[in-house]
Order: sequence, then C-alpha cells, then structure tokens
Amino acid sequence: MTAGNKVLVIAEHDHGSIRCATLNTVTAALLCGAEVHVLVAGHRAEPAASAAARITGVAKVLHADAPQLAEGLAENLAAQVVALAGPYGHLLFAATSAGKNVAPRVAALLDVAQISDMTHVVSPDTFERPIYAGNVIVAVQSSDPIKVLTVRTTAFDPAAPEGGSAQIECVAAVADSGLSSFVERIVAKSERPELGEAQIIVSGGRALGSSESFNTVLTPLADKLGAALGASRAAVDAGYAPNDWQVGQTGKIVAPQVYFACGISGAIQHLAGMKDSKIIVAINKDAEAPIFSVADYGLEADLFQAVPELIAAL
Ligand code: FAD
Repeated sequence: MTAGNKVLVIAEHDHGSIRCATLNTVTAALLCGAEVHVLVAGHRAEPAASAAARITGVAKVLHADAPQLAEGLAENLAAQVVALAGPYGHLLFAATSAGKNVAPRVAALLDVAQISDMTHVVSPDTFERPIYAGNVIVAVQSSDPIKVLTVRTTAFDPAAPEGGSAQIECVAAVADSGLSSFVERIVAKSERPELGEAQIIVSGGRALGSSESFNTVLTPLADKLGAALGASRAAVDAGYAPNDWQVGQTGKIVAPQVYFACGISGAIQHLAGMKDSKIIVAINKDAEAPIFSVADYGLEADLFQAVPELIAAL
C-alpha cells in the first residue's frame, strides 16, 4: 500500500449529527495532510453525512450505509475502514471510548502501529503524545505507510461545523463480520451537558462521603452554572458517583473553561484528566493538597460550608 497525503477521519455521529469530538479530530487531520476526508458509516445516516460535508476544511465525505453499520459495532466499522484505507496516509479517530474501540482493530488488521492520544502534529510522520499520566511528552516518529492515530480531542480546537461544502461519495458497505451483534443500548438521559464537551464542570472527590452529598451539595452548584458533573476515581470506586463521571487517566480527559474540584486531593492520575482546563477552582480543607498547585483559584475551606455559600452568592 502506498502512503498518501490524504487523511481519513472516522466520524462519530448519532446518524443525525456529528459529535463534537470529530470536529477536534478534523483540526488534527488538517495538520497531518492536505486533503481531509471524513467517513460516515451508519444506516440512514444521510443527515450526519450532510453535517460532515459542511465542516470547514473537509474535502470529501465517504458515506457507507448498511443495516450492519447502524450501531457502530467495532468489528464491522474496523472492516469498513480497512476496506477504504488504501489511498490514505493517515486514519484518525477521536480518543473516545468509541474511537479507542475501533482504532486498535484497524491498526492490527493493517499490521501497523497505533499512535495513541496524539496531542500535537510535529510533522506528517511525527506526533507528540503524553505518557506517565501526562508527566512526559514523547515525540513518536512512524515509518508505517498508513498511520493510525487516536487524537486527544482537548488538544485541538474544534473545526467550524459550518462553512464547508464537501462532496458526499457513497461507498460500498462491507458485509456483516458476524463476530458481534447488537443487543441493547441503554442511554443515560440527562439535561446536563456531556462531560467531555461541557464548558463548566463541577467535580467531587472522596470528601463528599456519599452519593446523597453529591446530590445535595454539588448538583445545585452544577444546576446554577449549567455545568456537567464529574468525580474522582475514589468517589466513583466508593459508589458516590457513576462510572462515566470519572475524570482522569483512567476516566475522561476534559478541558472545560472552568473546572471546580471539590474535596479532590489532586493525585497525578486525576490531574492527568483535567489540568488543561482553562480555569481551575479548588475547594479543599487541606492547605497542602496538591490540587492547589494547579489551581487558579484555591479556597482552603470545608466544602460542605463553602459550596452552599458559593451557590447563595451566585
Ligand atoms: P483523596 O485523595 O482521598 O482526597 C480527598 C480530599 O478531600 C483530600 O485532599 C482532603 O483534604 C479533602 N477533604 C476531605 N474532607 C473535606 C471537606 N469537608 N471539605 C473540603 N475538602 C475535604 N483518580 C482519578 O481521579 N481519576 C483517574 O482516572 C484515576 N486513575 C488512576 C489510575 C491508576 C493506575 C491509579 C493507580 C490511580 C488512579 N486514580 C485516579 C486514583 C488516584 O491516585 C487517587 O487515589 C484519587 O484521585 C483520589 O481521589 P480523591 O482526591 O477524591 O480522594
């Protein structure tokens, strides 16, 4: 296979619209090569394909439509990407749960290395990525003919969702791999912004002590600010907060405009997930807590007193 300067971004979508993570991935793609294409694989996902075509900077949308692509099963999507990979020098996925489920399969099928969690494009074959929970940044040079990358979305601004007018090309869908089948999707419904896309996040740690405290102390603050709720791993492991609220090395990587860390000590694994936030506000009763070393605003106080006072003042 020959390398090209064409880049293929694998879109995340809900059949109707394109997820924000794909916009960040398009920005990264534009730094990798001259011509950026977007793959929209789904079933009856024409609105998503049209939305992808309007993203500024996208030259072409490949639209694969088939029932076996409806639910984003990783085996089928990986096969679809591999079937189309030939002309591309780069295949880019957002480093989300969905992207991380498919990219390794694609890399393995193409027998190339995957470069994970890319944060900076040095040149079309050299990329930076964090290791050791973000304490070291390595530059990785790849000589593979096709570079398979997952993109840390918080490291790249989103491409403008409107302004483009790319051509949409229908491509043949691959057959069902038969390796997996769709059983059920249970989607947590929430009025709140999605954690990975929120402008403001209110996060709580072990200090909250119970899920009731999350509800009674942090939820009103999040409601007042229109914020998403997050949590440390200690809070999640203790059952105070659901799994998908976890921020950090083994949770979500976030970079909102404002991040409130309430009763979170600031372990490196937590910082790895939120230290790129524009403004960090920490409330902790221990003046020595490491979270204060990254905080723009630090309040040494008991959160059970400080948070209600903050809500009253807002
Ligand atoms: P603690 O460290 O116990 O801190 C609680 C803080 O609350 C303390 O600073 C205390 O002073 C303060 N406090 C107590 N009472 C009050 C009060 N009334 N008012 C105000 N402050 C109060 N952690 C993550 O968060 N995300 C991850 O993704 C993650 N991944 C990990 C991966 C690995 C491989 C490992 C080994 C660990 C990982 N961890 C992760 C765990 C991490 O090391 C810490 O254990 C965890 O972040 C601690 O959570 P915490 O700050 O809520 O709890």
